[in-house]
Amino acid sequence: MDFEIPKEVETIRKSIREFIHEHVIPLEKFYDYEKGRMPEALNQEARAKVKASGFWTPHLPKSEGGLGLDLIGTCIIFSEIGRSPIAPYIFNCDAPDEGNMHLLSLAATEKQKELILHPLIKGELRTAFAMTEPSPGAGSDPSLLQTNAEKVGDKYILNGHKWYCTGANGAKYLIVMAKVNGSFRKTTMFLVPTDAKGYKMVREIELMGSHGPGGHCELTFENVEVPEDMVLGRIGEGFRLSQERLGPARLTHCMRWTGMARRALLIAREYAKEREVFSAKIAEHQGIQWMFAECATAIEMGFLLTLKSAWMLQKGLDARQETSMAKWKVSEALCNTIDTAIQICGGKGYSRDLPLELFYRDARAARIADGPSEVHKMVIGRNFISNKWEF
Ligand SMILES: Cc1cc2nc3c(=O)[nH]c(=O)nc-3n(C[C@H](O)[C@H](O)[C@H](O)COP(=O)(O)OP(=O)(O)OC[C@H]3O[C@@H](n4cnc5c(N)ncnc54)[C@H](O)[C@@H]3O)c2cc1C
Repeated sequence: MDFEIPKEVETIRKSIREFIHEHVIPLEKFYDYEKGRMPEALNQEARAKVKASGFWTPHLPKSEGGLGLDLIGTCIIFSEIGRSPIAPYIFNCDAPDEGNMHLLSLAATEKQKELILHPLIKGELRTAFAMTEPSPGAGSDPSLLQTNAEKVGDKYILNGHKWYCTGANGAKYLIVMAKVNGSFRKTTMFLVPTDAKGYKMVREIELMGSHGPGGHCELTFENVEVPEDMVLGRIGEGFRLSQERLGPARLTHCMRWTGMARRALLIAREYAKEREVFSAKIAEHQGIQWMFAECATAIEMGFLLTLKSAWMLQKGLDARQETSMAKWKVSEALCNTIDTAIQICGGKGYSRDLPLELFYRDARAARIADGPSEVHKMVIGRNFISNKWEF
């Protein structure tokens, strides 16, 4: 085991940390609480600065304009970018586009790459991933999938109802999971342009956290015609590809969430070292020291699980169990840390004078999206009991 951060990654990490400090965190004060998102003009200005600095889409190979990092290097860099909730979009490595880039580069044809992936990498368009459906459809349990694509001649006719499709408002293309001819075994991903006839973005769902540039949307598909050449991968490959997408995408969530948890704890440390109560700084009270100890250790444990999963994926090993462990533990560490940081900062923590209240609302989704904690725990436990996974 080698815990040393490679020199070149350390250099990039320092530069990105400085960039975030100088150019991104100062923008947070312009966050529009009414609309639950950043003004897009400011995002675009900051994106231009990132491009000029050479940090754009940092996770991609150099040949595609990225930094050529391996997955461990990506862990280190994304955990810096995650320090600000507005930074991942500014660096073009936010969900869902970052996961969609990975999926498209694995499964898209040259023509599909030309149409969607290359402009996505350049930041010229956005995409969204539509899997979840309202009850009685697929959510925690993908076997409940209802959306269906019927093969008619050389086309597929898509009908269905999706929701929680992050970024769909204003996206140019959607990746839609659907059964084929009613067969669950034939579940497939389809690339659907958002100007397709019969597609409707019903609404952006009102929710407790940020909306990002394209919200979290409810969508309907009524007899949407999808030509054969807009099938992503092959018929029946939907679930295999979704595993290819969701595994690394869960990990990149963990990397960004680590950054947010670290920053929350640093904000609390700053307050605790300044503010005096009962004749001592808050940080001098042992009860507070234990809070810092618990949070710092939980963050570090989660990050180590994330690094181990990244290392396994890099080696081509099956990292599903470790990724579930990381997703569960990092999301819980994130929520607990922000809650503790608010407690340590008292009334100020609860106010919008500090960003913790926004972090708190944003972070709550981490324990639900990309598989609720309970589902990951079920999978981890089952794998252990059935000897599918060993220490
Ligand atoms: C902010 C946000 C963004 C999202 N973005 C996307 C996106 O871009 N694309 C997309 O397709 N989806 C997206 N989702 C949807 C997300 O993946 C689902 O919400 C998640 O998979 C859970 O499905 P569900 O909401 O239908 O919950 P349900 O399936 O209704 O489950 C509800 C609860 O039941 C419990 N539960 C479920 N199964 C078990 C079990 N086996 N044992 C014990 N308890 C259990 C859990 O506590 C779970 O939270 C997003 C969700 C959020 C909140």
